[in-house]
Amino acid sequence: MWDLRLACRGVFRQNPAMAQILPIISDTPSASRVDWLGAVHSQMHAVVDSGIVEVFNYGRNRQGLIPLWVGEGDLATPEFIAEAARLSLARGETFYTYQRGIPELRETIARYMTRIYGAAPGGGAHQPERFFVTIGGMHALQIAMRLVAGPGDEIVIPSPAWPNFDGAIALAGARSVNVPMVSGARWSLDIDRLAAAITPATRAIIVNSPGNPTGFTATLAELAAILDLSRRHGLWIVADEIYGRVVYQGERAPSFHDVMDPDDRILFLQTLSKNWAMTGWRIGWLEAPPALGPIIENAIQYTTSGVPVFIQRAAIAAIEEGESFIADQLSRMKQSRDIICGGLAATGRVRFARPEAAFYLFCSVDGEEDTRTLAKRLVDEAGLGVAPGSAFGAGGEGYIRLCFARSPEQIAEATRRFAAWLAR
Ligand code: PLP
Repeated sequence: MWDLRLACRGVFRQNPAMAQILPIISDTPSASRVDWLGAVHSQMHAVVDSGIVEVFNYGRNRQGLIPLWVGEGDLATPEFIAEAARLSLARGETFYTYQRGIPELRETIARYMTRIYGAAPGGGAHQPERFFVTIGGMHALQIAMRLVAGPGDEIVIPSPAWPNFDGAIALAGARSVNVPMVSGARWSLDIDRLAAAITPATRAIIVNSPGNPTGFTATLAELAAILDLSRRHGLWIVADEIYGRVVYQGERAPSFHDVMDPDDRILFLQTLSKNWAMTGWRIGWLEAPPALGPIIENAIQYTTSGVPVFIQRAAIAAIEEGESFIADQLSRMKQSRDIICGGLAATGRVRFARPEAAFYLFCSVDGEEDTRTLAKRLVDEAGLGVAPGSAFGAGGEGYIRLCFARSPEQIAEATRRFAAWLAR
């Protein structure tokens, strides 16, 4: 059982639902003499454990703890979205379906992209042929990795970064190369450093903007510079723009859509998880050149065989009717961001670049270098669940990540607890 636990921890590192069953698995005594770990393919051993899950497991059942460790908010999915799923089930939409997603959802996504991002690469409205419905952004990432990399290949990732990038790369048998970003008044990318990390084995650059955990938001000039690099070296860009609408000024963050040509090799990851509070529904999409359609269809067929129709109906309702929910959620997040940033800055001991996008505060605490230990102490001594920065790759050590996508009241209480702990 221990081997299964390790595999689960590695693969489902940020998935709270999976994390809930881990102790049940690990508590089961194993009488087996088989070397189960040795029997698992070496590729699975390349997938490292999640530092977030470690702290999560450590403090999960603490009474009264305020959980800021996982990347999701506290709002349940809006009722009109759930109702669309219920109606679909009542109609009996419980059968196998299109690998690429039902046509109605792909058309809805295309309309949404035109509304939010403007013309498609090359002009005109976005077309459904570019969009492939997946089991969340995570599945879109898995497919993107399969499309661009395999054993012996390298993928460059600016870091600190969402740990699942490394996990997906390892599962594809490839190697991730972290390029530490520069912290300051804002997080930024050193393009020369990025260029220096490219070798003959490099196949792609992952660009997560706005970024988890730092809130890094690439400017148009930075996006253009990365695109230029990818063109010169013939590399793919995997553009994770899932937090593109979680911005505290304007309608959306700058996007590769603003600078790309139709022939640029860019794969976009998107999800319904964050904008529409649907983390548990597991639905997102991959945007790719239409010529890749048959290959992506196969990748979906041989992994998940498609996304349940009733969930796709819910996604249509979310995208078509969810703008006021997005606006309300954002104004709540903004209040929470201001509370936590103001309160922690006032302690004089917490350093951070104020996040202008996404919903994470990535901060360091004076005198606290070992943030894995710090995260456990905050569980024990302050009733706070935070993610240790070491979980986010090179450049993350020395930081902690706090997700502030919760009610302003709860974030005020979390801030009060943290400040009191620092002043003790
Ligand atoms: N990309 C980033 C940067 C994320 O932080 C997440 C989730 O936390 C995802 C993608 C994928 O989300 P999901 O698989 O829930 O769609």
